[in-house]
Amino acid sequence: MKKKILVVAAHPDDEVLGVGGTILRHVAEGDEVRILLLAEGVTSRADTRDEALCHEALDALHTNAQRVAKALGAKCAELCNFPDNRMDSMMLLDVVKPIEHVINMYRPDVVYTHHGGDVNVDHQRTHEAVVTACRALPGQCVHELYFFETPSSTEWQMMRAERAFLPTLYVDIAATLAKKLDVLHLYDSEMRSFPHTRSYEAVEALAQWRGATAGVAAAEAFEVGRVVRTTAQNGYLSTRGGADGLGRLSSMGDSHRSAFLAA
Ligand SMILES: [Zn+2]
Repeated sequence: MKKKILVVAAHPDDEVLGVGGTILRHVAEGDEVRILLLAEGVTSRADTRDEALCHEALDALHTNAQRVAKALGAKCAELCNFPDNRMDSMMLLDVVKPIEHVINMYRPDVVYTHHGGDVNVDHQRTHEAVVTACRALPGQCVHELYFFETPSSTEWQMMRAERAFLPTLYVDIAATLAKKLDVLHLYDSEMRSFPHTRSYEAVEALAQWRGATAGVAAAEAFEVGRVVRTTAQNGYLSTRGGADGLGRLSSMGDSHRSAFLAA
């Protein structure tokens, strides 16, 4: 059964860094993918937030985000223009509402978003808001919720247990890694020279390491937030796999991981 996928990322480039290879794989398998980008990713470079001064840079970034969505095969990229690196100044409800709106309109089966322990405040806020928007109300359409890592944010956090990225789902992207790196070139202005972790070399090395961890040539790794299987949907017995507030995996995760890798 073809699925509807929603990727909710904080900044233009996070969607490729974190989940680009998996998006390409979903598209190749006939799934429909939409991308929602919450913050604009430009204005934090000045001392004060002045959208007018950054207008040209914002336009360029928006154009790039659309080009990237097209290159990935996604149906569209929607942008909210929340203040870059200042989303912690927003009321959580104001971040949740537009995400809920997109979920209500699009009705995705699967949602990917940031790991909640990243050092970047926008990533943390995005995680909180998506978890809230995807809460398991009766009739919730989102049956799979996953958290991705983002080079130059996830690994920059102090590795205390409550912040650590603990992946349990590995998606084989050996067939899509080259294309992911190609698409990343559309965000070349966001990339840095090796050994910065947001360099082409480090992104490729991470994919290879995640792959080797799972016994494949390249992979993207995810924490499993929640997976719900129901009889009506796909013939599985009704089963709930869950996580605590940090996205740690219940016993449901291993069987899901195997199913995904074999797909
Ligand atoms: Zn980001």
